[in-house]
Amino acid sequence: MTRRIIDILRLGQPDEAVTIKGWVRTKRELKGFAFIEVNDGSSLASLQVVLNPELENYDLLLKQLNTGASVEVSGVLVPSLGKEQRIELKAEILQVYGEADPQNYPLQKKRHSFEFLRTIGHLRSRTNSFGAVFRVRNACATAIHQFFQERGFLWIHTPIITRNDCEGAGELFTVTSLNLKQVPRTASQEVDYSQDFFGGPAYLTVSGQLEAEVMAMAFSNVYTFGPTFRAENSNTSRHLAEFWMVEPEMAFCDLQGNMDLAEAFLKHVFGFVLETCPEDMQFFNQRIDNSVLATAENIINNQFERITYTEVIALLEKADCSFEYPVSWGLDLQSEHERYLAEQLFKKPVIVTDYPVGIKAFYMRLNDDEKTVRAMDVLAPKIGEIIGGSQREERLEVLERRMQSQGLNPEDLWWYLDLRRYGTVPHAGFGLGFERLVQFMTGMGNIRDVIPFPRTPLSAEF
Ligand code: ATP
Ligand code: MN
Repeated sequence: MTRRIIDILRLGQPDEAVTIKGWVRTKRELKGFAFIEVNDGSSLASLQVVLNPELENYDLLLKQLNTGASVEVSGVLVPSLGKEQRIELKAEILQVYGEADPQNYPLQKKRHSFEFLRTIGHLRSRTNSFGAVFRVRNACATAIHQFFQERGFLWIHTPIITRNDCEGAGELFTVTSLNLKQVPRTASQEVDYSQDFFGGPAYLTVSGQLEAEVMAMAFSNVYTFGPTFRAENSNTSRHLAEFWMVEPEMAFCDLQGNMDLAEAFLKHVFGFVLETCPEDMQFFNQRIDNSVLATAENIINNQFERITYTEVIALLEKADCSFEYPVSWGLDLQSEHERYLAEQLFKKPVIVTDYPVGIKAFYMRLNDDEKTVRAMDVLAPKIGEIIGGSQREERLEVLERRMQSQGLNPEDLWWYLDLRRYGTVPHAGFGLGFERLVQFMTGMGNIRDVIPFPRTPLSAEF
């Protein structure tokens, strides 16, 4: 039976007979024998395979076994004489599935820039860096489900196509089956969406929150974890047009409980990844950002700072550094401010609460001062905002008033208001950008490099 290379590297014993399948990373020919390193994606480290001239077709094999070729190797494990590895595989039968022409296969050099690797998105996962990224990404996702499932949260699937557009006006992708060569028009020359598939305009979701609230009002604690879409026309290292979001929603919960959950959640995910991906995390610390391990320990062992927006503004006004965007009460925090707080001032994640009503969404619960809402953003060093959440407005009249003052028609969201009409409860939740979490975890500077197939303006080829 085929063994995973990670299992052999960890547990394999001399004299064991094993079969592996994978891709050649390197080949070294020496006098009288040769080594290949084979990787199957299960671990950062590859398994060293020793080839002796007694192998059938030895000379032909050496010609075929170039970087990128796919192979199956059967043989016995032997203690390695090299210092790099404990154990290696002495090949007895070797089959080449597919060659990779060294003249053309682009992954020849040991190190390529991430920019270059983005142009070969279909091959970059075969490199050490991307192998580590996507294993850690998988561990983060596993940790997320584990965290919520252990606490009795129901995983719900919120729709990708939605008719509600109130949240991210201006950032929506339209979903249509209208013939774009012959768009039906109304008398006033508007697009006639009544002829469209859903009988009205529809969009790719920017958040599953509103639907999560529906489900929380039946199951108490729920979470969504799925793709979200924003037609962000900005090319930043922290924004994708398609990204994954984790959104827990809790009935009978206030902002305090929301902050507690967010903090416990991040601590759990970091702990799980350190435990299950130690080699990959070491790799990031050595090659990408030498602070990721310290950051992870910091997250796990320290309480997050909790501070109100109003306090933050006072601190920023006193800060002895000049910001591109000047601060004053009422303005939204820019990423430079967020990073200053998390990196310079507190040197750990900071939870900022109680933002001005004017810069936050209509569904956030109004404070008694009527100037601020029960919002919270978790700001992380190097990333800025990683989580955005709030206690939700559970009072029908206040919610209607807030919608009207933001130019929204309460009737468009009649079902959302029904949640306040029938059995309303205080509730709260947050959204975590999954890729930002993976960036934070790995130290990867660009969000395009922590999702297998990044979607950004003018780019969706692979
Ligand atoms: P930002 O100000 O950074 O654009 P936002 O205020 O638009 O964030 P929210 O609407 O609160 O963000 O979304 C919840 C979370 O989703 C954010 O905390 C962030 O982690 C993540 N996020 C938001 N937009 C993107 C994006 N375009 N690509 C990747 N992650 C995103
Ligand atoms: Mn945004």
